[in-house]
Amino acid sequence: MKSLREWIGWAEEKKVAIGHFNISDSEGFKAVVEAAKALEVPVIIGVSEGERDFIGLESAVALVKTARGNNLPIFITADHTYSVEKAKKAIDARVDSVILDAVDKSFEENVRMTKEVVEYAKGKNILVEGELGFIGQSSKVLDAVPKGVSQTNPDDAKEFVNQTGVDLFAPSVGNIHGMIKTGEPKLNIEKIREIKEAVGVPLVLHGASGNSDEEIRAAIDVGIRIIHINTELRLAYKEGIEEGLKSGEIAPYKFLAEGVEEMKKVVLSKLKLFNNAR
Ligand SMILES: [Zn+2]
Repeated sequence: MKSLREWIGWAEEKKVAIGHFNISDSEGFKAVVEAAKALEVPVIIGVSEGERDFIGLESAVALVKTARGNNLPIFITADHTYSVEKAKKAIDARVDSVILDAVDKSFEENVRMTKEVVEYAKGKNILVEGELGFIGQSSKVLDAVPKGVSQTNPDDAKEFVNQTGVDLFAPSVGNIHGMIKTGEPKLNIEKIREIKEAVGVPLVLHGASGNSDEEIRAAIDVGIRIIHINTELRLAYKEGIEEGLKSGEIAPYKFLAEGVEEMKKVVLSKLKLFNNAR
């Protein structure tokens, strides 16, 4: 079975992106697994600090590793981790990758914290992703672009990747966490290309809910290899459950099943887009 690093190499070669989908329970997990199986593509399960507190980090890792034992190329990422301590905990729980998010700190502090996590992950076959540039912190539908959003400078990105030794880099390039009602700012494709050339490591696109298919295709073309989707899944789940509850149904596996179906539709369409399938 290929490792996540090897699958990212595969994506690089095929010029596709691996989908990263956030879940917080076994229903989300089921939706992602069934979609990935149907399309026979690798996939990443994401759990943020809040999501992993809910499902349990160890439980989430166990779910993913069991599915992987059944020959499904599925991986788990500790999404946005705001402290070195929690990142180390995730590494101890044997996730496949961990994202240290210190974008609200100074450049120096961000480098120091990220480097500490890179050191801790060494030799454990766990990838570390670093971030530079603020893209907001919400996974909701928003009225406007959050305050403080700034795009990543390619020279800073190069400096950051060199100093920290991260395996993956997440830039701010017009992507926003959450979805903006008025339509998100467009992805800055030229900036992605410049950053990719500057850093030389695979790039990760966060906050891709709400971006058009054309933008996503162009971003993959210039070097995005992992794409995060969360908000669209949450909306689909909620709408599905609401539908499921309308009949007065009380069996959880029946009213939740509609939520799973709705999430699965989102995952399927995103995976097709990311993997260049029809
Ligand atoms: Zn993110």
